[in-house]
Amino acid sequence: MKLRKSAAVAATIAALALTATACGGKSGEAGDKPESPGGKNAPKLPEYKVKTGVKLDSATLKKAQKDGQIVFGAKDDQPYLGFEDSGGKRSGFDIEIAKMVAADLGFKPDQIKFKTVDSGVRETSISKGQVDLYVGTYTINDERKKQVGFAGPYFMAGADLLVRKDDKSITGPDSVKGKKVCSIVGSTPLQEIKKPKYGAKTVELAKYSECVQQLLNDEVDAVTTDDAILKGYAAQRPSKLKVVGKPFTKEPYGVGMNKDDKALRKAVSDAIEAHQKNGDYKKAYEATLGLSGSPYSEPPALERY
Ligand code: GLU
Repeated sequence: MKLRKSAAVAATIAALALTATACGGKSGEAGDKPESPGGKNAPKLPEYKVKTGVKLDSATLKKAQKDGQIVFGAKDDQPYLGFEDSGGKRSGFDIEIAKMVAADLGFKPDQIKFKTVDSGVRETSISKGQVDLYVGTYTINDERKKQVGFAGPYFMAGADLLVRKDDKSITGPDSVKGKKVCSIVGSTPLQEIKKPKYGAKTVELAKYSECVQQLLNDEVDAVTTDDAILKGYAAQRPSKLKVVGKPFTKEPYGVGMNKDDKALRKAVSDAIEAHQKNGDYKKAYEATLGLSGSPYSEPPALERY
């Protein structure tokens, strides 16, 4: 099910999609936008070798094999991570992780179906079986593990703050007292910034692009979520937005799935490990998230449980 987007959000997404194809050139100049994933001057995206004859004691996988398609929940408004353009094409590092995993589970690119699932409805969507797997900046933590299973982590992010370019008053989480800070229902950075020690006034919305729109409209003073997500928005609007650059939490990203499907959990961790070892992971990173100003670093160690 696709959530209805407000006109303002649709406009933001359309603008991001437009700039996504119109960029290029040297980076570092004021107002310059980096190349987008799949763009003319961007590094080439890897192609993942699709395995055959995959057999697993996993109810989720068996059903997907019977259906001839695997359903991934993802974000649609996070440039360089999980983004859907106006033509319905998905791009970003999370999308590549989904494709790597799908290939190792025996699914070709045309057998992957993406569904947009925002942060506030991830656990319900996974536990109800509306998606087989979820790849969307999803922090692994013990509270969530009570409801869903995680493979990973495949990336380490940290909560940060996005502000308007000319803002000098917000320099980190210790300077948001009395400020209006927007974040997303069901996200860990929202939980963090609500702690009384920060003294922020929170605005809680369903989609990140809505928060970014409010920041551009001067309706809020900052947006908080993972640095990797915020750098993507700043890269799309370099003359208007900047990331403060002082991460204040640790957000290890995992692939979400049914809580009790141990075999699938193992297979997905194996897939991530294999693609890290064969170089696909680094190539995929550099062709997506690497373009937005998060240089490549070695991935965190997988935590199998
Ligand atoms: N990684 C954080 C989380 O899982 C924030 C990003 C998001 O909302 O997806 O809550």
